Amino acid sequence: MGGRGSGAVPVCVAYQRLAVPAAGEVMSFNPNKRSPAVTRYVLPELRYDFGALEPHLSGKIIELHHGRHHRLYVDGANRAVEELIEARRRDDFQHIAAIQRALAFNVSGHVLHSIYWQNLSPEGGGRPTRALAQAIDRDFGSFDAFKKQLTRVAATIMGSGWAALVWEPVSCRLGTTQIKDHQGEVTQGSVPLLVLDAWEHAWYLQYGADKARYFEAIWNLWNWDDAAARLEGAQKLDPVLAMAVEAPGEEARLPH
Ligand code: MN
Repeated sequence: MGGRGSGAVPVCVAYQRLAVPAAGEVMSFNPNKRSPAVTRYVLPELRYDFGALEPHLSGKIIELHHGRHHRLYVDGANRAVEELIEARRRDDFQHIAAIQRALAFNVSGHVLHSIYWQNLSPEGGGRPTRALAQAIDRDFGSFDAFKKQLTRVAATIMGSGWAALVWEPVSCRLGTTQIKDHQGEVTQGSVPLLVLDAWEHAWYLQYGADKARYFEAIWNLWNWDDAAARLEGAQKLDPVLAMAVEAPGEEARLPH
């Protein structure tokens, strides 16, 4: 695992921005001149035109999904942060549980959609290469087994949710997670590398009741370079939980 012992302390990007606020990215909520400036969540620009993912995903879907649905999560996340600041200012935590629920829902929705847009590319599809391909073979057996598993994870979601390829940093393995809404049933500590939006708003306009066709079509769009970059970043994460796992021993390697 890299990134340790180099002496350099990584600094969160949001904090770097905070030092020199960019216009529109940082808001000051300062009713009594004591609250610090707060980093705001923003809707990221897409790296491609709305119609660039056709025929697999229609331009109308991308336009609505990004401009309307994703924006609602951004606004909801910023509102929840403001409500927490206000609750502290008033010393009134009566609604803290509801605020935390809204924060988890909206921040998670914002994070997952931000990854989703970057996970997709007009030049996507095919198969991953190098380190990501090796990790998939090691942890799922084969790319085909991984594809089948992730597709089944998505197809068996009850209601709204996501299927995700994740890096689980405690066991240092790839895995899958079925995410309820945007935040439920998540494997703690896992880092999403590839996320499949299974909410109806992601496919219904184009695929109607046949969501299996969407789950197949999206494999023509995966940006494996983006997923590989996420794996590289995730593998630098040290959860400081070495005591919580045991490497496979001799026994595990012997045939039974
Ligand atoms: Mn969505």
